[in-house]
Formats: sequence, C-alpha cells, structure tokens
Amino acid sequence: MDSPLPPAAIKRLGQNFLVDPNIVRKIVALAELTPTDTVLEIGPGRGILTEALCRATGRVTAIEVDPRLHAYLTERQPQLSNLALVLGDATTYPIDHLPIGTIVVANLPYYLSTPLLFRLLDQRNRFPRMVLMLQNEVADRLVAKPGSSDYSVLSVMAQCATDIAKAFKVSHQCFRPRPDVGSAVVLLRRKKQRELGPEEESRFATLVKAAFAHRRKTLVNSLKDQGYEQKPVAAALESLNLSPSIRAELLSVEQFIELTRRIYGTGFSGLP
Ligand code: SAM
Repeated sequence: MDSPLPPAAIKRLGQNFLVDPNIVRKIVALAELTPTDTVLEIGPGRGILTEALCRATGRVTAIEVDPRLHAYLTERQPQLSNLALVLGDATTYPIDHLPIGTIVVANLPYYLSTPLLFRLLDQRNRFPRMVLMLQNEVADRLVAKPGSSDYSVLSVMAQCATDIAKAFKVSHQCFRPRPDVGSAVVLLRRKKQRELGPEEESRFATLVKAAFAHRRKTLVNSLKDQGYEQKPVAAALESLNLSPSIRAELLSVEQFIELTRRIYGTGFSGLP
C-alpha cells in the first residue's frame, strides 16, 4: 500500500517543514542524546525530526496541535514504538508532568516561539538542555548583550537561567514551504545553580518586565510608570554606582539581579 500524502502546510500554524536530513542530523547531534533519555518535541509536523529523535533516544513525547498532522503521524507510529504522540496545544499542555531531566528538541512554530520559550524557561527544573530552531531574530535576542538593540526581557530572563549558544544558522532552502524569515538553532543549557531564590525570582521577573516596558525612558521612569516608587529605585541604583539616568538596556543580568535584591531589601512598601 502507498503511504498517504502528507497534509498541505497551514501558514498560520507556522508550518515550515524541514526537508534537509543534514540539518536534522546536526540538531540531533547537538542534543547529545543517549538511549535512556526522554525528549519533548513541540510540533512534530510531518515527523522528519521525530523519526530521528526516536532512533537516537529512549522515549519521545511529541505535541502536535494540527489534527491532520496528528492523524498522519499516527499512521506511521507503528514504526516508532517509543513515541508518545499527543494531540494538543503546547502553550497549555501540562509540561510540568514530564519527567525531570527531559531534553527539549524542537523546530518551534515561529509565531509562538517567544511565549513557548518563556514557558519552557519557567519549567527549567525539568529541562537540563534545549535545542531549538527559532527565527534568527529571536536567536539574536536570546544571546544579545547589554547595549544592543536586541537586548530585551527575553535576553535577561533566558541568560539568567541558562547558558546559551547560537549553534548554526539554517538557510530557508532547508524548509518547505520556505519561511519568510531566517532561522537558527540554539542550545540552551540550564545553569548548574539557580541565581535567585523562589521569592526573588518572581520579583526579578516583574522588575525586568517593568524595566523594559518603556524602552525610551530611563529605568527610573519606566519603573515608576509600572508602579515602583522612585526613591528606593534611585537609592538602589546609586548603591550600585549606576547613573540615575541609565536605561534598562544597559544593565547586565547580574546588575538586574543586584537591583532586585537592593530594591526589595529596602523593605519599602511601594512595590508592585
Ligand atoms: N518538526 C517539524 C519539522 O521540523 O519539519 C515541523 C516544524 S513546524 C516549524 C512547527 C510545527 O508546530 C507544525 O507542525 C505546527 O502544526 C506545530 N504547531 C503550531 N502551533 C502549535 C501549538 N500551539 N502546539 C503544538 N504544536 C504546534
């Protein structure tokens, strides 16, 4: 019997399927999988990466939102006995139920890559490393340093939690249909030690978001607009030898951490 034709790509679901086996090999090699690992794949699509992952590792959970692709892969599943195929939405699927130590390997749907990254970072106690294909511009934001226009909330949050390497770029020729944007594969390795305690972590996240909420304003004014009193913020900046007119994009991750500690350390009540 002939195998069924794969369903046509739906643009709004970010369906740009990899067609280059060499890129698949490079992604799998970067993940350094062993036969006892468990892998999470988001968006298996037509299964080119899924099949390679199933060969390289112990168990693969793959979450696909498109019922047509889920059905197409289900037909091929008998050859992939270690695949748990889930029909679901990766933005709501309970990833906190996955085993500790799960490795994430995915060619993410680009329209969702930033919210998915935040979700995965939030659950990083489960994920020691992630190999992700992203649009090049998001990869640049992940590795951006202070002072660069790409430096953003995502850069600070991701770099606080993980060590990140932009591993290689991928030409749009390697996909069908070809995406309108460039692509890159990044490797995120969770830091050995968490820099912040659980309570500090949510304060840090709130502060970083507030700091970048108004990019053109000074840090003090941006925080003020988000409900932080001006005095303790100015005092914390001064104690760190930072200018009162500094902007968020010039602070390093370490300075954001210290700023959080000093602002909250003052014990004043005017905090969001
Ligand atoms: N892994 C395949 C590959 O490399 O060829 C497909 C990657 S394609 C860029 C992204 C995949 O994510 C598509 O199969 C798409 O249907 C799926 N997808 C889109 N939104 C999703 C969501 N919210 N949850 C899970 N999968 C999603």
